[in-house]
Amino acid sequence: MLAGGGPTGLMLAGELALAGVDVAIVERRATQDLVGSRSGGLHSRTIEVLDQRGIADRFLAEGQTAQVAGFAQIPLDISDVPTRHPYGLGLWQNHIERILAGWVDELEVPIYREREVTGFAQDDTGVDAEVSDRESLRADYLVGCDGGRSLVRRAAGIEFPGWDPTTSYLIAEVELADEPQWGIRRDALGVHALGRLEYEIRDGEVVYLDRGPARVMVTEEHLGPTSEPSLRDLSQALIAVYGTDYGIHSPTSISRFTDMTRQAAAYRERRVLLAGDAAHVHPPVGGQGLNIGLQDAVNLGWKLAQVVGGRSPESLLDTYHAERHPVAARVLQNTMAQSVLLRSDERIEALRDTLSELLGMDEPRKQFAAMMSGLGIHYDLGEGHPLLGRRMPDLDLVTANGPLRVFTLLHDARPVLLNLREPGGLDLTSWADRVQLVDADYAASGSFRP
Ligand SMILES: Cc1cc2nc3c(=O)[nH]c(=O)nc-3n(C[C@H](O)[C@H](O)[C@H](O)COP(=O)(O)OP(=O)(O)OC[C@H]3O[C@@H](n4cnc5c(N)ncnc54)[C@H](O)[C@@H]3O)c2cc1C
Repeated sequence: MLAGGGPTGLMLAGELALAGVDVAIVERRATQDLVGSRSGGLHSRTIEVLDQRGIADRFLAEGQTAQVAGFAQIPLDISDVPTRHPYGLGLWQNHIERILAGWVDELEVPIYREREVTGFAQDDTGVDAEVSDRESLRADYLVGCDGGRSLVRRAAGIEFPGWDPTTSYLIAEVELADEPQWGIRRDALGVHALGRLEYEIRDGEVVYLDRGPARVMVTEEHLGPTSEPSLRDLSQALIAVYGTDYGIHSPTSISRFTDMTRQAAAYRERRVLLAGDAAHVHPPVGGQGLNIGLQDAVNLGWKLAQVVGGRSPESLLDTYHAERHPVAARVLQNTMAQSVLLRSDERIEALRDTLSELLGMDEPRKQFAAMMSGLGIHYDLGEGHPLLGRRMPDLDLVTANGPLRVFTLLHDARPVLLNLREPGGLDLTSWADRVQLVDADYAASGSFRP
């Protein structure tokens, strides 16, 4: 059972359903609609992951591809990185969630909406989750995909160490009476941005339309309270930075986020697991949160399916923490560094210029581009083949049934063993119900390792 049907919960539900697991989501929201914009899109590795399930085209058809990777807004071009998707995809989170929810619906996963997981008790054979407005639900496992304030994490007694917020930001969608200075501004407070909500990509560049509501992001002078911000708060914050509030009115959303940076000490507490923001929170710089949440889900999904299906021992679930905790720890580290670089005084500018010079060099650019796009993913599985622990490349295969991409073989989310040597040289008879064996040759078209 999954607590929370945001991006992470939806992705995990899809993975489990594909693997034949009886899964349900309990979700607080009445619909998938999201107030406010939050994530602006998907990085290359996430697009690859969706491609592995045959659903990348649904996202690509609705968003716009562009070079979006960057470190503290220093652009990192990934067009020469070996992947079929050497770009990011601009697509607001409400669209990402709607498309994911459509997929989960096709897979017939029940979503109990307008209900909350309010607590749970676990024993040796399962978890009883307390759900508001109904009797408790019993499941083999409970996964907290319930966001940064995760009740599941707290009820499981999992610590959430890290750093308290130092800075807060207001983000809003509003109408402006006056024409503002569009674009990004950095000053001693930090970064601020004013843009139209609607944009197009022209020649790989984001071009905002010259009409419609605005998306405003402004760093506050002092750390704001945890209460909901008002139009007056937004007006004051804008005046502090721009000297005017540009006649803001008619907000459709105003919210506050901070640079709080924390990570769950453990991703598993017996039959309870955490994924996405429930396991890690950090500032949005670099646009990584939703992306690593989806990738957590894909790492956990097949493992949970193996264990629930009795095909693998429970210890397989510990590899989820072992592999995914370091990934988010790295993101926490890079967002803390980027947050500092986005402030502006002469010394930080000097540091930024130095870094910019460094990232203009080919090898550092490739390293950082791989980190920020997610393509550099590398689980520590010890010594061995250079691809060990790295992502599966989407090779062009030649099989007895004709040409095929590796990712096409992964649409069912079931294990595949590719035999690139002597056809018929491997005998998997006793594993035939679990692993698909494919004899293939591949066209070596350069390295797939970023
Ligand atoms: C301003 C801003 C900009 C961002 N930009 C980006 C970006 O460009 N790229 C990027 O990758 N990420 C970005 N993020 C981060 C991204 O929005 C999150 O990482 C992402 O939403 C996490 O998904 P999730 O499913 O783990 O959690 P959430 O999206 O928080 O979903 C949790 C779900 O659980 C439900 N829920 C909570 N508690 C319960 C309960 N007890 N019972 C039942 N349901 C419950 C909630 O209603 C919600 O639907 C941004 C965030 C912000 C604030």
